Amino acid sequence: MLKSCGRKLLLFLVGCMFTCLLVLMADQQKRQVEDLGGEGGRRALQSLASPGEPKGLPRQPQLQEGEPGLAPREVKSFTDYFSKLSRGRREAQDAGSLAPRREGTPRPALEDITAQDVFIAVKTTKKFHKARLELLLDTWISRNRDLTFIFTDGEDEELKKRTANVINTNCSAAHSRQALSCKMAVEYDKFIESGRKWFCHVDDDNYVNVRTLVKLLSGYPHTQDIYIGKPSLDRPIQATERISENKMHPVHFWFATGGAGFCISRGLALKMSPWASGGHFMSTAEKIRLPDDCTIGYIIESVLGVKLIRSNLFHSHLENLHQVPKTEIHKQVTLSYGMFENKRNSIHMKGAFSADEDPSRFRSIHCLLYPDTPWCPLNVVY
Ligand code: UDP
Ligand code: MN
Repeated sequence: MLKSCGRKLLLFLVGCMFTCLLVLMADQQKRQVEDLGGEGGRRALQSLASPGEPKGLPRQPQLQEGEPGLAPREVKSFTDYFSKLSRGRREAQDAGSLAPRREGTPRPALEDITAQDVFIAVKTTKKFHKARLELLLDTWISRNRDLTFIFTDGEDEELKKRTANVINTNCSAAHSRQALSCKMAVEYDKFIESGRKWFCHVDDDNYVNVRTLVKLLSGYPHTQDIYIGKPSLDRPIQATERISENKMHPVHFWFATGGAGFCISRGLALKMSPWASGGHFMSTAEKIRLPDDCTIGYIIESVLGVKLIRSNLFHSHLENLHQVPKTEIHKQVTLSYGMFENKRNSIHMKGAFSADEDPSRFRSIHCLLYPDTPWCPLNVVY
């Protein structure tokens, strides 16, 4: 009797202690949330979303006020705040460890493809011909002229002298959603026309390591549905699809950010045709009112039901490029440079040239990959 009372008392005490612990934890959490809601919190939230463009989000189309296309994506709630924090952590881990992953890393060759089977579309605009394209022409494009196609928006005789594959899309030179989609539409049509096995899109601030790109793609069948790249969000993008004049339908899907580059197999590209060829790409983009790279994701994931294969070998300047390990630089498929959280962002490497001589690090990367390039210094220790 006494023994059973003792056991009950013990159980009661353990129960009390557990409840107290729970109450204390809940209180602590509430206090943290209150702290974040104050001045410090707003600052913390602001630091996660840069003043111009929310980092880690797709490049922002110049959305008009009240445009229905996009669900609000700014960091508004604490859930968003914590999810951003965990995304930051995950991105750091992803870029840092590059440990073997199940998807998007080179697999044993399945197809014997060469660089000539790939169509690389570089999107640019006239004002960047000198500022950005020259660097690419001096570096990775110089070794891959016949598979690289430059999509721009203005005539440039000087540029044509340097490379044969310059396509004037006659699209507007703006950074608007429509102008970007206009260029993507032309890229798609030219790829289909080319008869090549793989379509890859990059921006004019990307370095492409064509050797690793071909190696990666050779692990997948080009006749199957393959969409490979890197998302810039940690969750599917929420959008609304316009069904008719006054009927909208919510959709969510993953997409590979254009700023890191992505590739699509010919098999899949052909299936995209009703939504992507001719003038259809523009009307599809209009239907969801999102930029070019999101529209590609919409057609592939939402319309065709094909899943994006994530690869950590593609890099945009929306991630911290310092975190790509020096010893892994030669294994990446794309690299970039630009701004990240209001700071200069580029690969961290010693390389052939100093950061002043080569701020993007593309020249140093190029000398690492092609040391026989005439302008690369001899005997560089990397
Ligand atoms: N771009 C363009 N028209 C413009 C500005 C940019 O076609 O008026 C292209 C640019 O050449 C690049 C891509 O859009 O290939 C992304 O531009 P940027 O790198 O300046 O911006 P991000 O979206 O990466 O922040
Ligand atoms: Mn960019």
